[in-house]
Amino acid sequence: MDYLAGTFPNLCRVEVIGKSAEGRKIKLLSITSGGDNKPAIWIDGGLHAREWISPASATYIQQQLVELRDNHEQLLQKYDWYILPVANPDGYEYTRNKDRLWRKSRHRYQSCVGVDLNRNFGYQWKSSRGCRREDYSGPSPFSEPETRAIRDYILAHKNIKAYISLHSYSQMWLIPWGYTDEKPKDYYEIYLPAEKAVEAIKKVRGTEYLLGTPAELLYTSQGSSDDWAKGSAGIDYAYTIELPDTGDYGFVLPSSQIKPVGHELWTGIKAFAESLPL
Ligand SMILES: [Zn+2]
Repeated sequence: MDYLAGTFPNLCRVEVIGKSAEGRKIKLLSITSGGDNKPAIWIDGGLHAREWISPASATYIQQQLVELRDNHEQLLQKYDWYILPVANPDGYEYTRNKDRLWRKSRHRYQSCVGVDLNRNFGYQWKSSRGCRREDYSGPSPFSEPETRAIRDYILAHKNIKAYISLHSYSQMWLIPWGYTDEKPKDYYEIYLPAEKAVEAIKKVRGTEYLLGTPAELLYTSQGSSDDWAKGSAGIDYAYTIELPDTGDYGFVLPSSQIKPVGHELWTGIKAFAESLPL
């Protein structure tokens, strides 16, 4: 990210949007080719520490938009892009050095360590029974510096019209709501551009992403980032993407998959962005 910002200063810059519980910088790349009040697309990765294909895919998209920008001129003219690859830097570091399958952040609460950042957002937040759980939602909504940094940046940028959070694994493009089995009133409108994305992904090398709500495809959960983006921040087009695979390697996807997964995801996000009615 620092290389991209240093090499292409007219197109992108690194913004430190906050600090993690252990004091690491939370770094976002904002990509804009000029012009006022353009709609923006937000992409974050790494809210869950062990889902390594997520930060890798976010940086792949950064490279496409910046270094290979000549291939995507219209998408840069139409949109600003805010891309945060490592939303949970403490957890990410911990998976690199201590426990590859750690999921939460590393904030210490009495006898427990870590909060599930994708349960800590303040829309339909729910308290957990016990802080040792893998999906501990924290003592209160937005108790965590990582989720507050995302919240504050998004609320300060009213031009964000689409929110995408990258997770793994299971190959799904998930549509809100996550907290209930009811669908939002505009479900069909937000389904359509996601359908275009999933179709485009399949054409690359046959990878099939299921499309639907968490209640249909997985399980309901409360306090997720996409529910907050849609329910509180007013971003209609909010999604969570579960990247490959479907379980053969699971979280420990081989590094040989970084480029193919990034490429097909970027193909899908391009189709998505081109079909947004903005
Ligand atoms: Zn996840």
